[in-house]
Amino acid sequence: MEIKTLEKDDRKLRLLIRGVDPPYINAIRRNVLSEVPCMAIDEVVIIENSSVLHDEILAHRLGLIPLKTDLDSYNLPEECSCKSEFGCNLCRVTLTLDREAKDETITVYSGDLVSENPNIVPVSDKIPIVKLAKGQRLKLEAYARLGKGKDHAKWQPVSLSAYKYMPRLKVDDKNCDACGKCVDICPRKVLIKSKGKIEVRDLYACILCKDCVNACPKDPPAISVEWEENAFIFILESTGALPPERIITEAVKILDRQLEEFAGLIEVQKLE
Ligand code: SF4
Ligand code: SF4
Ligand SMILES: [Zn+2]
Repeated sequence: MEIKTLEKDDRKLRLLIRGVDPPYINAIRRNVLSEVPCMAIDEVVIIENSSVLHDEILAHRLGLIPLKTDLDSYNLPEECSCKSEFGCNLCRVTLTLDREAKDETITVYSGDLVSENPNIVPVSDKIPIVKLAKGQRLKLEAYARLGKGKDHAKWQPVSLSAYKYMPRLKVDDKNCDACGKCVDICPRKVLIKSKGKIEVRDLYACILCKDCVNACPKDPPAISVEWEENAFIFILESTGALPPERIITEAVKILDRQLEEFAGLIEVQKLE
């Protein structure tokens, strides 16, 4: 396997992965979405709510606020040694919120949540939760836990996990008269006309739609669009819960464990 990083920042990762087949890359994509744990608010005790939103809606909104996650210090509740449905310091984080609109209407934001652990806080302070009119108050205690995306979307550490085949574009200079129709129709501005020739500006942006081939007036078309077998562009966007590279390495580790478990089951079957 060969991996090249095409783009990387604290939220986004774009990789070119060669030498793997579609089931493998799809298993990674699925594990990123459904198996890599992250923190989310899972239970809310409403002490006072005189806002216009019902308690249930507030709890739902709180659950969907992405929280910074520390995978090394916390256990999944089902794997924690406390075996308690309330949880302990190793599987639960308590956040509190207490805001009151005294003189004017105010907006309660995610930044108003106060966490007992300064490392487990909302990824953004600016997510609105509710507006409070004069005299209204919201006071609550919330419990965040690790969970998996397969149980609820609030536990997905990503907003995007996808892959596509690595494109291969070819322009036949002998057949092409540089009319520019392929350049104009391309939705991703992959092609460019330069010095009377068609050139590829950004191959990785191509979505293999073949609009350029269909727009070419030549017969056969002077441009061809194909893709490399077993080479993929993998794109991952973190919600901010975990660094993107940690998400993908966790997904690979989980896949290894799943395969070991599967291999173990096959051996058991053989013995029977
Ligand atoms: S296949 Fe689609 S995205 Fe790719 S170069 Fe052609 S028109 Fe652009
Ligand atoms: S549409 Fe066909 S002929 Fe026109 S510039 Fe593109 S490849 Fe060349
Ligand atoms: Zn515990």
